[in-house]
Amino acid sequence: MRLATFLRDGDERPAAVVGDELVDLLEAAPELPRTMNEILALGESGLQAIGAAIDSGAARLPLKSVRLTAPVRPQKLFGIGLNYADHAAEAGRDIPEYPTVFAMMANSLSGPFDPIEKPIVSDHVDYETELAIVIGKRCRHVSREDAPAVVAGFTICNDVSVRDWQRRTLQWTLGKSFDTHSPLGPWIVTADEIGDPHDLAFRTLVNGEVRQESNTSQLIFDCWALIENLSAACTLEPGDVIATGTCAGVALFREGQPWLRVGDVVRCEIDGIGAIESAVVAEPTGAALAA
Ligand code: MN
Repeated sequence: MRLATFLRDGDERPAAVVGDELVDLLEAAPELPRTMNEILALGESGLQAIGAAIDSGAARLPLKSVRLTAPVRPQKLFGIGLNYADHAAEAGRDIPEYPTVFAMMANSLSGPFDPIEKPIVSDHVDYETELAIVIGKRCRHVSREDAPAVVAGFTICNDVSVRDWQRRTLQWTLGKSFDTHSPLGPWIVTADEIGDPHDLAFRTLVNGEVRQESNTSQLIFDCWALIENLSAACTLEPGDVIATGTCAGVALFREGQPWLRVGDVVRCEIDGIGAIESAVVAEPTGAALAA
C-alpha cells in the first residue's frame, strides 16, 4: 500500500495512493484518525481499514490535482552519516565503528515536490538521496531480529545539506536543519510491499544529470541495525523517521563542487518507492517573507 498526506482547503489529510489516484481517507474511512501518525499507530487494523476504503472506490481524486506534504510528521527525524563505504571514502573517513547519528529539526521537513530554499547565508547547498524508514510501532530495545516488526514502511528523504554550516563545527545538526531542507515522500510504501529494503537501487539527478547512483545493499549499518541502535537509547514512536544515509557523488566531493543553485531541479529516485523532485529557489526575504 502507498500512504500519503495531502493538503485540502489548507489542512493536511491522510490518503492512500492507487495508481494515479488518491483516496481521501477522511471521507472514505471516517472511522480512522485524522493524521497518518495516528493511523500508523493502529497497526494492522489501520491498514485493513485503508484496504476497505480503497476497495470501496469512494473519495477518489486525481493525484495530479493535489499537493502532497511530508507523509508523516515525525517526532524524531534521525539522520545517519557516513553509512555507505564509497561516501565515507570520498569524505576521507574510516568506516565507522558505530552509526553516526544526527538530528534534523522538524522545521526542515518539507513536501516531496516543494521547493528547496537556497539560504541567504550560504551558497554551499548539497543533495543526498536516502532511503528513509518510517516507524509504525512504539518501541524500545528492539533487537535486529525484531526490527522488521516495528517498521510501517519506507519513503525517500533528500537530506539537503548546507556544507559550510555543517562542517564549520563538530556538530552537524544546524547544517542539516535549514528550513525546507528535508523533503520527504512522495508516500510511504508499506513494508509488505517493499519486501527486502536492502536491495533498492537509487539515484540523484540534478537537471537530469545523474549525480549519485547506488543500491541500499551497500548500507554499512542496515535498517535493522539502525533500529537496534537507536531504540537502545530512544523510545521510537509511530511516524518517526530514520534517513539511513547516502552514497558517493555529493557536490562537496565532486570536481568543481557543483552546488545546488537557484533554478536547479533535484530529483531523488528509489526503485520500488518512486521519486521526489524539488526546484531550488532563493530563500524569501522582505515582502515575500511577510506573505
Ligand atoms: Mn545524509
